[in-house]
Amino acid sequence: MIPGPVEVPPAVLHEMGRPPQSHVAPAFIERFGRVIEGVRALFRAPDGQPFVVAGSGTLAMEMAVVNLIEPGDPVLVVVTGYFGDRFASVLERFGARVAILSAEPGEVPPAAMVDEALDGADYRALFLTHVDTSTGVRLDIEPLAAAARARGVLTVVDGVCATAGERFEQTAWGVDLALTASQKAIGAPPGLALLVAGPQALATWRERRSPVAGYYADWGRWLPIMTAYEARRPSYFATPPVNLIAALDAALQGLLGEGMEPLWARHARTARAFRAAWRALGLALVPARPAIAANTMSALYYPEGQDSALLAAVRDEGVALAGGLHPALRQRSFRVGHMGPIGAGEILTTVGAIERALHRAGASSAPGAGLTAAQQVLAANQNEESNDEL
Ligand SMILES: *Cc1c(COP(=O)(O)O)cnc(C)c1O
Repeated sequence: MIPGPVEVPPAVLHEMGRPPQSHVAPAFIERFGRVIEGVRALFRAPDGQPFVVAGSGTLAMEMAVVNLIEPGDPVLVVVTGYFGDRFASVLERFGARVAILSAEPGEVPPAAMVDEALDGADYRALFLTHVDTSTGVRLDIEPLAAAARARGVLTVVDGVCATAGERFEQTAWGVDLALTASQKAIGAPPGLALLVAGPQALATWRERRSPVAGYYADWGRWLPIMTAYEARRPSYFATPPVNLIAALDAALQGLLGEGMEPLWARHARTARAFRAAWRALGLALVPARPAIAANTMSALYYPEGQDSALLAAVRDEGVALAGGLHPALRQRSFRVGHMGPIGAGEILTTVGAIERALHRAGASSAPGAGLTAAQQVLAANQNEESNDEL
């Protein structure tokens, strides 16, 4: 139950164990074509151009930067944790002039501050992290993207810990470039970087004055490949990781079969169940308010007097959790991933393991308090679930 890599459904795992196909075999061409269409549907980007490339989420971030940004371009990065800082580092490496608007860990900058910051310079792009995995904080993307678009500024969203788990409408919200990786809410093994570029992002790339500062990362290499496979024609620039593409195909069939609304609703209900349990167990969330807490993961403070020994105790109870990641929170917080193919079984198993570990360490809450709170959410009818309190 870490925030990636997450559990992988058996149908996805099965594809990883098959003999690698030729990248020009008809069955593979069909798969890759379906994957490109599926990624477009997952991002809700009917006018978007997907790129599916071997690499991790960080490559997707780098591809966003090298294709969109030219040396000297002013950019604004909203930082809500470790991965916002990473975006700023990548941008600096490629010569952007980076302005940072950061919030205290667990907070988001108010929308009015972002507006004001956007007015501060003639920015090329606004960089946002949908869910920052180091703080569990979720940004409200839609109004920020609208504010950027109103000023002719591109919006780039790192959705690595959000896509497929948090509501996201790339085209409707006016997000120009969104990216994720295969191993988080998508529920496939790590190894694929996914990007979807909207028309403005592609136009910006086409109008560049300087060459893209990367050979493998250049959209110019990949655009003909993506277009060919989507038209069910083979093409070659660099060998695609055929087993991972097949695994992603299986994962996307599962996600799109479930449907985007039910998928987002399942993650929201899972998060409510976990938050009810945290409250019953006296565990405080790093996000300052439930309204800015992610549905895909929880970042929590250790209870008074406890540290990472708690995670070892939970592991002994059979559940793997993640330690702190944000430099300012590393010793004080831990993280529970709740994205991907999980349901009531995983929720109750996780809460139960944490509860037993806390009890052994002398916690005062009665064993079962966290489970009861989670069950109350899980047992409620969908239409009783308006309680945004959680
Ligand atoms: C995991 C993560 C990344 C980095 O992805 P890798 O696949 O580890 O390179 C970037 N941004 C966010 C928000 C993430 O959660």
